[in-house]
Amino acid sequence: MSERTVRQTGDEILRKQSKDVLELTDRLKELISDMKDTMKIHGGCGLAAVQVGVLKKIIICAPEEDKEPVVLINPEIVSVSDETEEDSEGCLSVDGYRGKVIRPKNIVVKAKDENMNDMEFDAEGFFARIICHEVDHLNGVLYTDKVVPGTLEDINKENDETEEET
Ligand SMILES: [Zn+2]
Repeated sequence: MSERTVRQTGDEILRKQSKDVLELTDRLKELISDMKDTMKIHGGCGLAAVQVGVLKKIIICAPEEDKEPVVLINPEIVSVSDETEEDSEGCLSVDGYRGKVIRPKNIVVKAKDENMNDMEFDAEGFFARIICHEVDHLNGVLYTDKVVPGTLEDINKENDETEEET
């Protein structure tokens, strides 16, 4: 297991725009492997490369805890449903907090897979939420920017360890 340091809110890099991946080099493959380890160690359900300090459009999403995370390279949300859902989110870069965010219920995503093959698929519910959250990271946006006012809470006070963070 190879863990990388998760950048925390206040670190300027989290506000920067990530760049397209043109070629999946060995270095980037190692990054993806380290991202998976880092996410697992921290018990997260999603992670963007920028969160470990690399401004490349790479995200990983794990909507189901016991399954291998989905790797999305250069992800793009091409359409969103009018129907939205409000649900609780956390972030490994905003340690110790959770808050409600309104997201589209369904999205259509375009991306490349780990072999740089193009794909396009529909995602809904929690999976769609994770993708939206991680794509925001690639644009320098944190969920705390769009949290429903008054819902951001310090979870350490409640000592709840069952919640997942992205
Ligand atoms: Zn996050």
